[in-house]
Amino acid sequence: MDMAELLEVAEALLRRYPLCDSCLGRQFAMLGSNLSNEERGFSIKTLLMMNLDRERGLSEDNKELLIALARSGHNPSIEYLKSKGIDVEQIPCYICRGLLEHIPRLVRKALEKLKHYEFNTFLVGSKVPEEVLNREERLRAEYKLDRGESIKAEINRRAGKLIREATGKEVDFSEPDIIVTLDFGLMDVEVLPSPIFIYGRYRKLSRSISQCRWLCPRCRGVGCSYCKMTGKRRLLSIEEAIGSVILKYALGDDVKFHGAGREDVDVRMLGNGRPFVIEVVRPKIRNLDLDRISIEINYRCRGIVEVMDLKFVPRDFVKKLKASAEVRPKVYKALVKVDNELEMDKLSLLERMFKERIIRQRTPLRVLHRRADKVRIKRVDWVKPRMLTSRRVFEALVKCQGGLYVKELISGDKGRTSPSFSEVLGTNARCIRLDVLKVEG
Ligand SMILES: [Zn+2]
Ligand SMILES: [Zn+2]
Repeated sequence: MDMAELLEVAEALLRRYPLCDSCLGRQFAMLGSNLSNEERGFSIKTLLMMNLDRERGLSEDNKELLIALARSGHNPSIEYLKSKGIDVEQIPCYICRGLLEHIPRLVRKALEKLKHYEFNTFLVGSKVPEEVLNREERLRAEYKLDRGESIKAEINRRAGKLIREATGKEVDFSEPDIIVTLDFGLMDVEVLPSPIFIYGRYRKLSRSISQCRWLCPRCRGVGCSYCKMTGKRRLLSIEEAIGSVILKYALGDDVKFHGAGREDVDVRMLGNGRPFVIEVVRPKIRNLDLDRISIEINYRCRGIVEVMDLKFVPRDFVKKLKASAEVRPKVYKALVKVDNELEMDKLSLLERMFKERIIRQRTPLRVLHRRADKVRIKRVDWVKPRMLTSRRVFEALVKCQGGLYVKELISGDKGRTSPSFSEVLGTNARCIRLDVLKVEG
């Protein structure tokens, strides 16, 4: 589009629709770098005015165009017409109806809200009433204008610049710390801090603490006298033990706990601990002193839970953690009780039978109410049994693939897990105590 063509289109546009400087300039955003849409729009209007055929004076045609320019808020045209005794009333911009003038006000509101959050990067988005977007789209189709910027892009860019100048923080399009949404329908601002993700490993030293929060079994989370109106089971969870301390420093709305697998309430998690990620929802503080936090958790939960290796990780780490939990090999220590006294050779048989053995395991009966019934194929690497003083109790170290239910490997779960300790020993075996000694990887 050359300049003559541009002026022709712009003139046709303005004769039909009053457009503010920004909305006009935005349609020709490919012209003149380093100009704002507003400057570009004003320049085009001024060019149109200067381009008028002076010789014909204030002909009807010239007058019409000048009135169109004046209606759209072009001051030189307004002044000129006034000098000729013609007063023209300005008409709100056909596309934005003055909406763009509210950018500074909403940005001020955003800055006020942002004061409560710690962030290094941000991104601005906007909600613009549908009819504004539709008007711009129709106008572009009508005049075949396809190279301009969209009104939302202009708003986001301008607001982003204002916020950057006021805060010194940078715009980040892929992983911003906080997202600012200017809502031109409600004339309000929403700030949404991105969650932070903290990786760590926990050791669970107690046999009466669960990994996650559970709903109160009586009221199902509503709150009743049994749960003292908390809606939660009266059992401390690792999620709460770790989450409450992190939440206190991050000042978020909530935490979500992502474990690399889990152990039963009565199972201890020892050794190097189990990997987990804590997600803090809507944190106000992002730069946390993780050393100090782990010291506080370990002090407050001493004898119950211990955390180590806390560090920040990106969002996609959670998916990797979950995926790896299924295959991460684990080493367990089980205390096994059998119905009939055992001969010594039975334990060496057990050791031989479970050397690199494939186990077929149907979903255990005890978790069937919350897990789909299916057959899992899992591998046991080895079992190292050790007789204790009684001949009806022995200890076994078991190394196996993640996701194998070890209690059922021992009991056989009424034939649903095979082979099992009960099957090989020829007597009912059950796990009376279980510890995870090591989670690999
Ligand atoms: Zn406008
Ligand atoms: Zn309750």
